[in-house]
Amino acid sequence: MTLVVRARRVVLPEGERAAAVHTADGVVTAVTGFDDVPAGAVTLAEDEVLLPGLVDSHVHVNEPGRTEWEGFATATRAAAAGGITTVVDMPLNSVPATTTLEALRVKREVAAGQVAVDVAFWGGAVPGNVGQLRPMHEAGVVGFKCFLLDSGVPEFPPLDDAGLRAALAELAPVDGLLIAHAEDEQVIAAAPEPAGASYAAFLASRPPAAEETAIDRLVAATRDTGARSHVVHLADGDALPLLRAARASGVRITVETCPHYLTFAAEDVPDGDTAFKCCPPIREAAHREALWAALRAGDVDLVVSDHSPCTPALKRLDVGDFGLAWGGIAGLQVALPAVWTGARARGVGLAEVVGWMAAAPARLAGLPGKGAIAVGRDADLVAFAPEESSMVGRLEHRNPVTPYAGRELTGVVRRTWLRGQEADGSPLGRLLDRGGR
Ligand SMILES: [Zn+2]
Repeated sequence: MTLVVRARRVVLPEGERAAAVHTADGVVTAVTGFDDVPAGAVTLAEDEVLLPGLVDSHVHVNEPGRTEWEGFATATRAAAAGGITTVVDMPLNSVPATTTLEALRVKREVAAGQVAVDVAFWGGAVPGNVGQLRPMHEAGVVGFKCFLLDSGVPEFPPLDDAGLRAALAELAPVDGLLIAHAEDEQVIAAAPEPAGASYAAFLASRPPAAEETAIDRLVAATRDTGARSHVVHLADGDALPLLRAARASGVRITVETCPHYLTFAAEDVPDGDTAFKCCPPIREAAHREALWAALRAGDVDLVVSDHSPCTPALKRLDVGDFGLAWGGIAGLQVALPAVWTGARARGVGLAEVVGWMAAAPARLAGLPGKGAIAVGRDADLVAFAPEESSMVGRLEHRNPVTPYAGRELTGVVRRTWLRGQEADGSPLGRLLDRGGR
């Protein structure tokens, strides 16, 4: 099975140029000049750029157990439609949570045969399961997620400082990765309670200091154990100096942010519109601009969706109460156009965006076949029209609630290939192990 795709603009690891990408049996075999193609090659339209398939290392699929929130078939169809050819499933909000070898087996069994893109798995680190971490690591999870405060679901409790250090110490000898939801319980307990429709009141209930305090704890534990950690969904621009200082001093910590923190600003969130509720919250525009600057400076490593849907009923759109609504933003399918719209407005090029959304998450998750158009990598390709605009309409994920609804975004994913096959929503995906294909 061979596929050759050529374009006047191809985003390659070394930059953008006209090229032809040759593939066989789902793997890139050569990257040649534009004119060096056999008969039958696919030529992209003049307004299309060929990108590597994106890697989204932060997706809550929720199946089994809360499949009415989101499932493997719908989440991966949304991914394929959005140019994302690999997703890494978060260990919580499904039941069972992926905190044991047996739960990992259950997840894989449920996902097998119904995924439209490739899927890898995070394990979970919770109180009392430190003995499960190495077996799950050996079984191929890409790393472990933990919470430093209440996760919102009872089956996934947070780690205290001793638990955090025990998990890091267990993972350090095998160079395992611990990723953390970094908000501090005590800072939040001291803040006013969120209640009602006021977005300002919700924002005040989860202050930036909660992120900074938790990141401080994570940095200290990472430094002391020599392990590798990662901050998920950074929303707080004021945390950047302490992360920069930690990294400069050799602490092995990486950082991600999300499309919603780069797109929206607290000043513009309508009161009562709980589609915007997530934790940590969307902060003021100054934080958003600090995150953009940090990405460009290399102080934030990657951008991934944190796609975390629930049923419309749990979003409490009926009452619009930020205290009662489930926190989580659904936007997997529009991640690329959302980030590209913001990048383009700030003079950032497509190659940089692809670095944040393909190469860097593939590296974080330890997926060597993914994240770039290069010989030996999987033939995961996207035809992207960067100058075409569209209004966000019905999305493929199970419950179509999203704060992007009705928003005009620039950049349209026209076609996606997964390992050389058109990713049309049919179950072509594979389940991936860390380091594997
Ligand atoms: Zn999440």
